Amino acid sequence: MSRFWSAVVHGLTPYVPGEQPKLADLVKLNTNEHPYGPSPRALEAIRAATDDSLRLYPDPNADALKAALAQRYGVQANQVFVGNGSDEVLAHAFMALLHHERPLWFPDITYSFYPVYCQLYGIAHRAVPLADDFALRAEDYLPRGAERAGAIVFANPNAPTGRLLALADVERIVAANPDAVVLVDEAYIDFGGQSAVPLVQRYPNLLVVHTFSKSRALAGLRVGYAIGQAPLIEGLERVKNSFNSYPLDRLALAGALASVQDEAHFQESCRKVIATRTALVERLGALGFEVLPSAANFIFARHPEHDAAQLAAALRERAIIVRHFKQPRIAQFLRITIGTNAQCERLVGALGEILAG
Ligand code: PMP
Repeated sequence: MSRFWSAVVHGLTPYVPGEQPKLADLVKLNTNEHPYGPSPRALEAIRAATDDSLRLYPDPNADALKAALAQRYGVQANQVFVGNGSDEVLAHAFMALLHHERPLWFPDITYSFYPVYCQLYGIAHRAVPLADDFALRAEDYLPRGAERAGAIVFANPNAPTGRLLALADVERIVAANPDAVVLVDEAYIDFGGQSAVPLVQRYPNLLVVHTFSKSRALAGLRVGYAIGQAPLIEGLERVKNSFNSYPLDRLALAGALASVQDEAHFQESCRKVIATRTALVERLGALGFEVLPSAANFIFARHPEHDAAQLAAALRERAIIVRHFKQPRIAQFLRITIGTNAQCERLVGALGEILAG
């Protein structure tokens, strides 16, 4: 602790990112990265952008990338915001759009960055409990007389549970809260969910956030984006331009653009992850694991007879890393990223050994 810290730093409990160990031959199933590489066209575009032009600042408005995203989603370019990973997009959204007199509502079990942003920006919030089966219930987010949200944020599919809220339920929440911004964090939507993006034309209070880190296998490039009606996007631009006018560097802009233009690679690589997920759920079920239904590139699983922390530690001894959370309600679960088929085979083999004692 330093006496030079400002008051806000003293009070902060920062987000702890998933571990990025430096060991070779590790089966790394702890931070939901894509097991296969990004589009070869994205890699080629990054290489091509690696030249003398790096002495110049990048396009602060990311016009080419926004135009490509707008085209893909059938919206206007002024309905797209881009940032340095969806974490940054979320951070700007919390400041620009989710800070109101009434508290911000989000599920009690969800992406743990949300309470961190609330603390950083002094946003009052209310954690709305998930159902016993970890489902998010749309009815819990509907206004009840004077009790209504100042804004709402949730991940869909949710993290770390992987559970999906049906699009009709997302719409119910958005429609019932016309005076509150509803931010749907769709970091994992491409692995089997139906995106809420088509709803943005009808709902001025809806903002949908996506990332290139998961389904586009570009976590190392740090690109995220938001889609909503122009006034919401303008609010985000105001915060961004008060913070860092150039969040995306030239290589990120080039790589992300080429990735959006390679729809076939995107579809195929998501399909492969989904197929591996189906097979892994079956294999873990055969070992006695209970697995929550997942629409993400990870699964949330527990074994009724084995302690999750001990399982995670035993896997680690075998150079397999999965994520374990200490929060009491989910402390019996492991969150396991869908890896390659070979990685999942190694995981299942190791778990079989561990359970056999
Ligand atoms: N939202 C959710 C729900 C996530 O799990 C993550 C990844 N940790 C993010 C957003 C942030 O992803 P990124 O900053 O890599 O885009």
